[in-house]
Amino acid sequence: MPSLQDLLASVRDVEDFPKPGIVFKDITPILADPKLFKHAVHLMAETVSEHKIDKIVGIEARGFIFGAALAHHLGVGFVPLRKKGKLPWKTHEEAYQLEYGEAVIELHQDALIEGEKVLLVDDLLATGGTLSAAIKLLDRLHAKVIGIAVLVELEFLNGRSKLNHHPLHSILIY
Ligand code: AMP
Repeated sequence: MPSLQDLLASVRDVEDFPKPGIVFKDITPILADPKLFKHAVHLMAETVSEHKIDKIVGIEARGFIFGAALAHHLGVGFVPLRKKGKLPWKTHEEAYQLEYGEAVIELHQDALIEGEKVLLVDDLLATGGTLSAAIKLLDRLHAKVIGIAVLVELEFLNGRSKLNHHPLHSILIY
């Protein structure tokens, strides 16, 4: 079985992507290796095992990969939170800032039932702008965000402070 060290070593640093000054944490080497991918999903599932979860909301695009895998692993539903203009049905939306730009996220209006316990999933927490916008959107829909799970946390950016005290579960911390 791979170790945490193997996972850490498999994240590739890509300098100046997508903009000068950004060091992009590329998780595709983990996805390409079935043992590493399985282990990453397993560790994420372990860290959220204390929670009773109704649905996982995964954030486009890499949050779909880990969110869907985790939903499948845990036997719960999956809801995609997408960039503006991608979802076909009626949506609620929220604007947010990225580490490198600006965007709007959307969720189908009927994707969640009021009071459902939601685990938010993304691949990586940087400044926390995306996840904090997702929390605001879910609050507006009266979903109950019981926790947030990411594979990678860029601790030095202190994104955690923007998560409104929701429990954050991260596996690989830089
Ligand atoms: P943020 O809103 O700043 O927390 O950014 C989080 C989102 O942007 C996640 O969906 C990440 O996939 C992506 N992202 C931001 N910064 C990086 C980075 N340095 N490396 C890889 N992905 C990043």
